[in-house]
Amino acid sequence: MLSSDILETDLDLIQPAELTFEAGQWISLPFGPKSVRAYSIASTPRSSRRITLCADVQPGGIGSAWFRELTVGHPVEFKAPFGGFVFRRDDPRRPLSVAEEIGIVPIRAMLADLVETGFELRATLVYWGRDPSWLPYHDELLALARRSPGFAYHPLMASSGVAELTTALAGVPWDTRALVAYVSGGGAMIDGVREALMAKGLDRKSVRWEKFW
Ligand SMILES: Cc1cc2nc3c(=O)[nH]c(=O)nc-3n(C[C@H](O)[C@H](O)[C@H](O)COP(=O)(O)OP(=O)(O)OC[C@H]3O[C@@H](n4cnc5c(N)ncnc54)[C@H](O)[C@@H]3O)c2cc1C
Repeated sequence: MLSSDILETDLDLIQPAELTFEAGQWISLPFGPKSVRAYSIASTPRSSRRITLCADVQPGGIGSAWFRELTVGHPVEFKAPFGGFVFRRDDPRRPLSVAEEIGIVPIRAMLADLVETGFELRATLVYWGRDPSWLPYHDELLALARRSPGFAYHPLMASSGVAELTTALAGVPWDTRALVAYVSGGGAMIDGVREALMAKGLDRKSVRWEKFW
């Protein structure tokens, strides 16, 4: 438990014994013929025999119940990997990552992957949560910012709501010619961030996103 509503779990790969994926991709868990839930992989491709998932279980549906009931040794079947929300290393622009609460998961994987592979970290992360317990991986990100001069970390806690995030972003004089955004969380936040950045001159295609809900 990372908090009362945020759970992390490791899955050991059995068959196949390894999973090849890119940081930022997700797995699909089946709960019936027409019912699946997606979970981003929180760990990096270097750990190909054991993957980590991290979930917000407050929504309380079948995915949340599954997470809450997981026990050690519980067999799990899933399909993977999926998704194109991955970091493009050949893009020279500075990445601005924006995460809403549990939306941090794929961004955490991308940042950790860059660090593990020795890629020079030149990135900004703006991370919103309603209070500290809703900022999973905050301590890890803070430590990363302390040892990486090129990584600017801006946690933002506002019980007044995620609109604070767009207001904060709108107030920064971004150099949008040299920026690419990676945004992850709820659809309303993604729309708000996209609008705020487009108002500063960023083109729509330069906002890459992963919509969790
Ligand atoms: C590509 C992708 C990756 C995802 N990765 C993760 C992940 O790493 N961790 C994770 O916890 N979830 C992730 N999700 C969301 C996840 O698939 C489920 O939707 C979530 O766990 C809720 O499932 P549920 O069955 O408990 O609730 P549901 O019955 O599916 O949802 C109940 C309601 O809550 C809304 N909702 C879902 N999640 C949230 C949330 N976090 N905050 C507020 N409202 C929400 C839904 O839109 C719905 O209206 C991802 C979704 C996508 C599409």
